[in-house]
Amino acid sequence: PAEADLEALQYADVERLLPVPVAESDKYRRGVVGIVAGSARYPGAAVLAVAGALRGGAGAVRYVGPAGDAVIARFPETLVSAGPPAKAGRVQAWVVGPGIGDNAQAVAEVLGADVPVLVDADGLRLADPDAVRARTAPTLLTPHAGEAAALLGVDRAEVEGARLASVRELAGRYGATVLLKGATTLVAGPRGGAVRVNPTGTPWLATAGSGDVLSGLAGSLLAAGLEARDAGSVAAYMHGLAGRFAAHGAPTGALEVAEALPRAWRDVT
Ligand code: AMP
Ligand code: MG
Repeated sequence: PAEADLEALQYADVERLLPVPVAESDKYRRGVVGIVAGSARYPGAAVLAVAGALRGGAGAVRYVGPAGDAVIARFPETLVSAGPPAKAGRVQAWVVGPGIGDNAQAVAEVLGADVPVLVDADGLRLADPDAVRARTAPTLLTPHAGEAAALLGVDRAEVEGARLASVRELAGRYGATVLLKGATTLVAGPRGGAVRVNPTGTPWLATAGSGDVLSGLAGSLLAAGLEARDAGSVAAYMHGLAGRFAAHGAPTGALEVAEALPRAWRDVT
């Protein structure tokens, strides 16, 4: 690819973009994230997405879904409810999808909200492309190669062999910002322009639940007011850094990655 097609996110950009609270901050100004994740079968996805959002700097996290007990057991500061997302209370950005199974109704409802929305995992499969295109608030889709292939109707190998073209194609089709996860994470905006490449990360991040943490983290940055391309690329940067700190050369788990985010924050700010 031509050099102008790609831009690496720099340390200085991350330092400038990371939302650090100021004296006048309150939890609303820091950002309230709504998380629709988890199911009876996959309660852990809810815990991991909430962990990413809390350690990603959110002022508050509202969790909506059937895994509220598991979430509260690990993070008692979470505001939990089981009803429809619209009844959850004030939310400044939504994350929908990790471990939700076939809850298409929740995805449709969240896509109808006039605030930034991140769609990941099961949510990608359930999201109506027309509903995504119709949105006016920012939308961030975060597929891995397999999910991107399913959305494009091609084989995973085809996406792996043409990652730059694939992420651009998806962003154009959905009229959304797309973060394509993998060893080199790419972030493409809906109107073309340079695709951001994340320079951090470690293969130790290839572990179950790792992507759920990234979703919560990017959701917290959307709630803080970052635009979708910045939220996605800064999240990938911090997730990669936290992954390196959590692993330092040995296996680690997704919750440990979330718990290493504060250290990544201290490193950058
Ligand atoms: P998911 O597949 O949704 O659990 O997301 C996996 C997370 O781990 C994403 O943030 C990927 O970018 C990251 N990841 C997966 N494999 C690698 C790898 N080989 N090197 C670096 N990061 C990876
Ligand atoms: Mg995933």
